[in-house]
Amino acid sequence: MLCLRCGKREQFADNLCENCILETITPVEVKPVVHGTVCPSCNRILHHRSWEECPGNLPDAVLRIAADSLTFMEGLKNPDIELSVDSSDSNTFRVSGKVRTNYKGLLIEQEIGVEVRISNVLCTFCSRKSGNYFEAIIQIRGLDGFTREEVDRILEGIRNSVASAYRKDPNVFITREEEVRGGWDLYMGDNSFAKQLSQKLHDTYGGETKLSSSLFGRKDGRDVYRYTYLVRFPGFLQGDYLIREGEPLKIEKIARVVKVRSLRTGREENLNMHEAMSLRKLRKADVEMELIIVSRSGDEVQVLHPTNFRTVEMLLGGRSAEEETITGALIDGELYLV
Ligand SMILES: [Zn+2]
Ligand SMILES: [Zn+2]
Repeated sequence: MLCLRCGKREQFADNLCENCILETITPVEVKPVVHGTVCPSCNRILHHRSWEECPGNLPDAVLRIAADSLTFMEGLKNPDIELSVDSSDSNTFRVSGKVRTNYKGLLIEQEIGVEVRISNVLCTFCSRKSGNYFEAIIQIRGLDGFTREEVDRILEGIRNSVASAYRKDPNVFITREEEVRGGWDLYMGDNSFAKQLSQKLHDTYGGETKLSSSLFGRKDGRDVYRYTYLVRFPGFLQGDYLIREGEPLKIEKIARVVKVRSLRTGREENLNMHEAMSLRKLRKADVEMELIIVSRSGDEVQVLHPTNFRTVEMLLGGRSAEEETITGALIDGELYLV
């Protein structure tokens, strides 16, 4: 059958030949100018009165807005949009590229050119953040004996978990961090996350937690509370030591209980948090050292005492002594292998 329009070529679809199909359809409708609203702080895009996640930086937001403004003819299959920002002048962006698609088996390629004008509006999440909005405070205490690096590592861990939660819920952010005596106060944008985080800190580092709340005001006829989560560190981290009636215990793991190993007997046991916190604590860095190995035979090793430089015989107890030194701990004048 010949094409009904030109009468020259074979029909391809819709009683028309390929050329006549291409000449009569508009696969993609392009508005010459498109307006979009983007948050200047986080590049979220306003879409039908709600803020949606931006795929990246401002040009990415512009490309998303340009792609969203395209109207596709019915019956098009798998449109593949390839756009890039050619130039920009303050908040006006020139976007061009092409759309490849398929109409009833006929491959279609159309050039696109569109101007995107961006207005900047602070999104609800960023305006909350900049307005010092917070629902809860996490008070971290008991950091006195820790080094600056250790405290930084703890804070870094907190910031990382906030950042990954923020990707799913933009209400999760730290409004303000304040260093106070013996710790830090973290002002949190979202109460349920603050609760979760304080529990996680407790599970990871041990210690004690306490919740308190205060009436903050009324909203929509309901009382609004602000919550304070006190997270008190136990004064030790994994790898530190506890002394129970002269017996040194190395802290192997902290969870809800404290798993320790006796340096005298090698026996492991779990202490409850309360008991562990009541014992004398020694920091790893204060007692551990590398001991120089003088000789070894079988399961015994002779090392140099770090203060009186006498040789001391010690039982390896299955530890390897392949290096020139071995890690030990000097606790109350006694030398132990750890
Ligand atoms: Zn034709
Ligand atoms: Zn924002």
